[in-house]
Amino acid sequence: MRTPLIAGNWKMHMKIADALDLVTGLHYGLRGAKAEVVVAPPFTALYPVAQKLENSFIDLAAQNMHYENKGAFTGEVSSDFLTDLGVHYVILGHSERREYFAETDEIINKKVLKALEAGLKPILCVGESLEQRERGDAFKVIGNQLGKNLNGFPLDAPLVIAYEPIWAIGTGKTASTQEIQDMHQFIRAFVGEFLGNSLAQETRILYGGSVKPDNAKEILGLSDVDGALVGGASLKVSDFSQIVNAAK
Ligand code: PEP
Repeated sequence: MRTPLIAGNWKMHMKIADALDLVTGLHYGLRGAKAEVVVAPPFTALYPVAQKLENSFIDLAAQNMHYENKGAFTGEVSSDFLTDLGVHYVILGHSERREYFAETDEIINKKVLKALEAGLKPILCVGESLEQRERGDAFKVIGNQLGKNLNGFPLDAPLVIAYEPIWAIGTGKTASTQEIQDMHQFIRAFVGEFLGNSLAQETRILYGGSVKPDNAKEILGLSDVDGALVGGASLKVSDFSQIVNAAK
């Protein structure tokens, strides 16, 4: 049985006071939730939010990390710094990191393996552009990203994959339920062939891309969808709570 996971990616939003208000609202509003709930604040809010969530069921993710432990990497944050704060998950390979910060599949692969070594659970994001989908290349692109990003992944390590079609992120467009189910099924089959059926059955595959309270139930009800990675709608207690409560 895969427990559904709903993760909120706050991106570059939320000063400390706003972040604390948001998690306080979620903590009281979501008690008894059936899904696992994770929030990913910006680095500056991680420590205060970690302290606030010390006795909470809500878990903490970082939005990125470097693949080295320490050293002359100005502006970077290592996996050790994250575990030091009590962070358990890390989002890796988000399309915004790939596009605006030139993260290659090889860099993402190094980060995934380093996260595991540090005891962090990677939430690996993959997704195709609109042009790639319209060309009929969506499955090829996702297979290629998975193969490179998961190179050397141990067969018994925790894995969460977020399928996020780039054209659906922050645009208000969602993939159709058929497109989502087909891609999630493909991803599970790919993981099965690449890393074994047991890991494929345990891997949670989240959908991300304009998930909102009014489409969450339909998307989260699909058989190979094990949760959601939520951007914009994770910034409001009521929207995010409705999405969490829509999880099967
Ligand atoms: C995201 O950035 O991971 C995301 C899914 O954003 P949104 O929900 O705003 O489309």
